[in-house]
This record gives sequence, C-alpha cells and structure tokens, in this order.
Amino acid sequence: MLINTTNLNISYDYPFHFNGGLALFFRQKTLNPKSDFHSSKALCQRSSMAIFGAMIARAYSSAATRSLRVCVVGSGPAGFYTAEKMLKAHEEAEVDIIDRLPTPFGLVRSGVAPDHPETKIVINQFSRVAHNERCSFFGNVSLGSSISLSELRQIYHVVVLAYGAESDRVLGIPGEDLSGVHSAREFVWWYNGHPDFNQFSPDLKNTDTAIVLGQGNVALDVARILLRPPAELATTDIASHALAALRESSIRKVYLVGRRGPAQAACTAKELREILAIKHLYVNIKQADLQITSADEEEMKSNRIRRRVFDLLSKASSSNQTRPSSGQRELHFTFFRKPDKFLESNDKSGHVACVNFEKTALKGSAGSGNQIAAGTGEYEDLKCGLVLKSIGYKSIPVDGLPFDHSKGVVPNIGGRVLSSRDVDQLEDGLYVCGWLKRGPTGIIATNLYDAEETVGSISEDLKKRGPTSKFASPKPGREGLLQLLENRNIQVVTFSDWEKIDSEERRHGSLSGKPREKLTNWKYLLELTTK
Ligand code: NAP
Repeated sequence: MLINTTNLNISYDYPFHFNGGLALFFRQKTLNPKSDFHSSKALCQRSSMAIFGAMIARAYSSAATRSLRVCVVGSGPAGFYTAEKMLKAHEEAEVDIIDRLPTPFGLVRSGVAPDHPETKIVINQFSRVAHNERCSFFGNVSLGSSISLSELRQIYHVVVLAYGAESDRVLGIPGEDLSGVHSAREFVWWYNGHPDFNQFSPDLKNTDTAIVLGQGNVALDVARILLRPPAELATTDIASHALAALRESSIRKVYLVGRRGPAQAACTAKELREILAIKHLYVNIKQADLQITSADEEEMKSNRIRRRVFDLLSKASSSNQTRPSSGQRELHFTFFRKPDKFLESNDKSGHVACVNFEKTALKGSAGSGNQIAAGTGEYEDLKCGLVLKSIGYKSIPVDGLPFDHSKGVVPNIGGRVLSSRDVDQLEDGLYVCGWLKRGPTGIIATNLYDAEETVGSISEDLKKRGPTSKFASPKPGREGLLQLLENRNIQVVTFSDWEKIDSEERRHGSLSGKPREKLTNWKYLLELTTK
C-alpha cells in the first residue's frame, strides 16, 4: 500500500518532541489506513468527498481518544499475543504490528511443520486481533532498513520487539561451510515456502544418508519430513518445490545425533511418538546407550518430559527389528557424539562426505544443573551427503539495541529492556517478547505467558509514570509511520492485502488438493497486493 498524502495538506495538531529531521516527515496529517484504504489504487477509486470526510473525521477522533501509540515489531506468536494483550489491557492503545515479510504469523507460517496443521489453527485467533479496529498490520516493513529503531521510538510511546530468531547458532568447527551442510532453519524455511528460501535447493538426490545434529523438536521435524512418505505430505501446505524434491529424494537413512544421552534428549514425548510411528520405518537405538547412571535418574526425577522421552526411547529400542529390510527407511538415534569436523568428499569437491565425531561422556552432577558432554578423545566418522545442524536458532540485533551476544537475547527484566550504557537503567518505552527476550525455546503457547509478562511490565510502567510522563505527550504513531514509509517509497502490505494473498494461496492449493499453496516469490507477493 502506498498512501497518497498529496491531497491532504492538513497541519498536524500534535506538539512534537523529537528531532528536526524526523519532524519534517509529520507536517501533514495522513490517513488512518485501517480497513477501507489498502492501496493507492483503491484510494484513487474511492476518492469521493464523503469518504475523505469520514476518513479524516476518523483520523482526528482516533488521535483524540487513542493516545497510547504502540508498535510491535514482528507478527509471529509473540507479536500477536503482545498486541492482543495490549489491546485488552489498554482501551486507549492503538497497536501497529510491523513485519519484514509481506505475510504475517512468523513462526506459525514459516516454522511449524506442514504436517502439524492443528498447531496453525492459532492463526484464526491472530486474524481476529488484526481485525480489531485499534490494530493494524504493516508487512514488508523491515526494522533496520525501512525504519530504524530510534525512529520507531520517536514515533511511538511503546515499542515491543518480538521479531524472534532469524539466524542460527554455529558449531565453529572445520568444514562447516562445505556444501551439503545446512542449518535446520534453512531447510525448514525451504519446505515451508519462506520467500527468502525459494532458490534454496538441498541436494537430496545424490546420497542415501542425512545426519541431523541435535535432538530437539526441530531436529525431529526435519528428520520426519525427510522420512515420511511424500504421499502423506502431498495434502499438507508444504511448498511445492520441497514436495517435488522429496518425491525424488534418495535419502533412506537419517541419523539423529545427540552430544549427550537418551536421558537428556531435548525433544518432547508427543513429537518423539510421532516420528516413531512413521509407517514401515526401521528404528535403531542401541541398548548400550540406554544404561543410565544415578545422575541421569536424578535429572529425570525433576523433569517429567525427559523421563517420558527416555521411556519411549527404551520401548522403541526393545521393539527394534534386528536389521532393516531392503529399501526400508531408517532412523538411527545416536547418542554421546559431538561433531568435531566435517570432511570433504574426494569425488565432489567442496561437498560434505562425512562427519567426524568425538565420543563423549557426561560430566558434572545432576544436582549442580545439567550434566554436560565432555570429549573422550575417541573419534569416529559417519558418512553422509547431507547435514542439517539443528542446534538452535539465534536472534540478530539491530542498531541501537542492547544485546547479549553470548546468550543471543536482549537483556531485560520481565520484558523491560536494560540499557547497554548503564546496567541499572532501563531503556525508556522499549520492551521485548518471545525468542528475542528469552532465547529460542518453548512452544507457541509459551509466548502467551511471555506476552502477559511483558504487557504487565508495560502497564506497571504506564501507571507509575502518570500523566506528566513522556507517555502522556502525544506521538504520531501510525500516521507518522506511514508518512515516513511513504517518503521512503516503501510498499506497505496491510492485513487486507494479506487476505488477498491468503485467498490466492488457498485457490492455488485447492487445485492440487492442498489447504494452500504458499506463494514464495517476493515480487509476486507484492504485485498481488496491488491488484
Ligand atoms: P532445542 O530444543 O534447544 O534443541 C537443541 C539441540 O541442539 C539439543 O539437542 C542440544 O543438545 C543440541 N545442541 C546445542 N548446541 C550444540 C552443539 N554445540 N553441539 C551439538 N549439539 C548441540 O532447540 P530446537 O530443536 O531448535 O527447538 C527450539 C524450541 O522450539 C524448543 O523449545 C522446541 O521444543 C520448540 N519446538 C517445538 C515444536 C513442537 O512443539 N512440535 C516443534 C519445533 C520446535 P544439548 O541438550 O546437549 O544442549
């Protein structure tokens, strides 16, 4: 949406408290773009005086009654839960959600596996939030390149950063940049039709073996997608490029490798049960790995999920077939191995052929926290043609944001961002939620509690500061944001623009018996919104 403000030369009635450069952007009052006016084309088509009058009246009444301007950065679960809670807790709040992608819902769209449609139902709840008249979604707006953090903080009273973790932890070992070595996130974004990964093409045809490093739920997701019969994925919303590649895949063996033991596996029972239930799958878990120590017992006593996972692995191990039948797909759980280096193929220059692992033993007592994996000095190689590193996602800081690089999070207390200049100080009006706040852990619903905490902190701060604080002085909020983006020629995607994309995806999907066919081309996605 490009909003045309040339006809609206109405001087702004707010005092400005920010620097000269930005103030220039807000001399004109712009439209409230919510609901009716989603594109410059629509604007031209409906430019009757009556409609303009109604819009201006709405913009003024919005300005008068809704004094708390809130911007949430990121439209994934943490962003939408924050918006929902803010709207509920503060009747005077007007909440704008921005996202760098032209599509909303973050991890629910790009992270949740295609064969987990029940997890995506939460999109209905988020859509209701987006339809709230005090809420707006603006996609294709990137914090850092479309608008800076300091600009956002000048335009809004409250900025909540909930943009998640869009990068990966690295191992920092030799050979990590060989082709055929990818992060699980890249693979997930590829099969989920993320527009940044429509050109990604993992080689699934020249090997029969994939190694997945890590044993968390993401590792189980990628292993399951590699091992499930493609016919079962064909009726999901998996990207068509991924389905085609999986249909031609020659991968038959997947090794899920953990640096610790079966009592420390990071996955949860439901997800483990699901992968173990794949039809005609040969599962290999060595009995010797299931010998546990008193420290393991101690760890599991205080962690019911770990106990259940261990019990499931033990059960699967004892019901193992002795060997796979010909052509059968195989899943191998390998414990007590940490990757030491990736080795290059002799036949295919620059491509991975093998992972060299160091065997490990657990060190430390359960009482002092988790036992850790220590190298034993014994090594072994495992041949493969594809490696997916599933060792955790990582958040990326933007300019001006205090950031703890070792933990990959924004330092905060209950969502209030701590200043990088003085650890006892808080960043005024700046909050975090979700993976950027607590690190890349937890299920979608974890963000509900997380958002509750952050919004609780915001509410306390607003109450404490009272009517004379900065929060009480007017800020341009939505109108200011849109004016600035327009001046920068940035095409904004509103929620109703997204609904056009949504219906086009559903239409495409219905042609091939899928709930939707995700559109993965940035240019096409943006073009569609202007139709
Ligand atoms: P995770 O649960 O933290 O698992 C990370 C795995 O990587 C662990 O096995 C960890 O082993 C291993 N690891 C970390 N650093 C390593 C290193 N340097 N060398 C070798 N191994 C290393 O992370 P995730 O799987 O990315 O999942 C992120 C969050 O999303 C989790 O909370 C997960 O439950 C959630 N999720 C949920 C679902 C679902 O509900 N269906 C699906 C996907 C994701 P150690 O334990 O030894 O550190």
